[in-house]
Amino acid sequence: MQSPSPAMDPFTVIVMLAIHLVGSGGLMFLIWRLMPNAPGLGRWWIASSLFGMAYLGRLFGGLEVLDLRALAGDGLMLFAVLLFKDGVRDFVGRPVLRWPLVLALWAAMFGAEIAAALCISPSARHVVLNSAIGSMYLLMTWILLRHGGASQAQPLRAPLRLLTTLLGGLALLTLLRAWDIGLDGIDVAFDGLLAQVFYIYASLTAVVVGLTLIWMLFLRLNGQLADLATRDALTGVLNRHGLDEVVARHFARRDAPPLTALLVDIDHFKKINDSYGHATGDKVLQAVARTLNAQLRAGDFVARIGGEEFLIGCVEETHQPQDMALMLARRLNQSVRELPLRTADGTAPVACTVSIGLSPGCSSLRAWQKGNEQADQALYRAKQAGRDTVRSFSAG
Ligand code: GH3
Ligand code: MG
Ligand code: MG
Repeated sequence: MQSPSPAMDPFTVIVMLAIHLVGSGGLMFLIWRLMPNAPGLGRWWIASSLFGMAYLGRLFGGLEVLDLRALAGDGLMLFAVLLFKDGVRDFVGRPVLRWPLVLALWAAMFGAEIAAALCISPSARHVVLNSAIGSMYLLMTWILLRHGGASQAQPLRAPLRLLTTLLGGLALLTLLRAWDIGLDGIDVAFDGLLAQVFYIYASLTAVVVGLTLIWMLFLRLNGQLADLATRDALTGVLNRHGLDEVVARHFARRDAPPLTALLVDIDHFKKINDSYGHATGDKVLQAVARTLNAQLRAGDFVARIGGEEFLIGCVEETHQPQDMALMLARRLNQSVRELPLRTADGTAPVACTVSIGLSPGCSSLRAWQKGNEQADQALYRAKQAGRDTVRSFSAG
């Protein structure tokens, strides 16, 4: 009885690889049709499908046949990597490598491949093609290393790292394949240990890359949803819901330091709206929120809790906690007063001040809730005292 050969049939493996690529592309297309604003997906689904179709074309044209169709398929593969790169650009939101440069590189590599195919031998074509695709994968790996790491939000780093590793591995294998074909001829492209490792790895990558891209989109959308629920749309600082979450998390800590509430209210804001219009009022709100946010230390937080009212949580760290909060309040008061504000159309300067009321230090959630009322009473006294000033709560 003849035992089955352990070697894999390259035809079947390439069919599987092509199915994975076209399947991932199709799935991404369906998601993209439902969510056209998912950045990157519009290019990734085309890239994956083109890549898969190029492999299928190669199979139906015969693995080693050299004709115009084969060359067009090779061109498609190179082009698909470029599209993939642009998907990454859309996702990270900044240019990664500019088109003219990459297109020139692409044209040079494709031209070299055709020249090799026509003038030297079929195996020279494969050497050049694999070197070209391998170096593009390497470029992609570098792009991901450069733009995907620390600059991205924390939850996105794991999938980006996975993507980098997968593409880095594929780059090395593809370059190794070029080298191997150069040494031992075209047969090793489809047969032998390296060919098998290559196609298994490429197949795995085709599936995992597609899923990882969707994972990244999911994380991005999830973050945006969380932001929508917890951030104020106009100013970007926390809203009431976000504030409640942050405060609850703070007091859930076993060693939570006391918090002082600073209630900040813009003075005569109605007048700003009435004199300069609502658009200027909105601009002032944004500028005040930015200034408050910029002055806080790590651990402190700011929320917009009413039209022109902000609440700041100031974490007490020193043995003279009220002094810290008071100093912060005075600094905030001064920096808003010194804001160089102008009307929405930029024609006139706008003066803006705030009044601030401070609670005592609060060591529990219940104390914090009471502290909010105490800060409100202190704010009332600051308003009574003529505005543009700071008052701490005092009983009596
Ligand atoms: P005071 O110094 O006593 O705090 O006076 P004030 O005018 O600041 O206070 P008042 O509560 O009378 O007015 C608040 C104004 O804030 C009224 C409202 O139209 C305006 N406002 C609330 N939300 C927004 C907003 O999102 N954009 C703009 N432009 N105005 C807003
Ligand atoms: Mg006000
Ligand atoms: Mg108010």
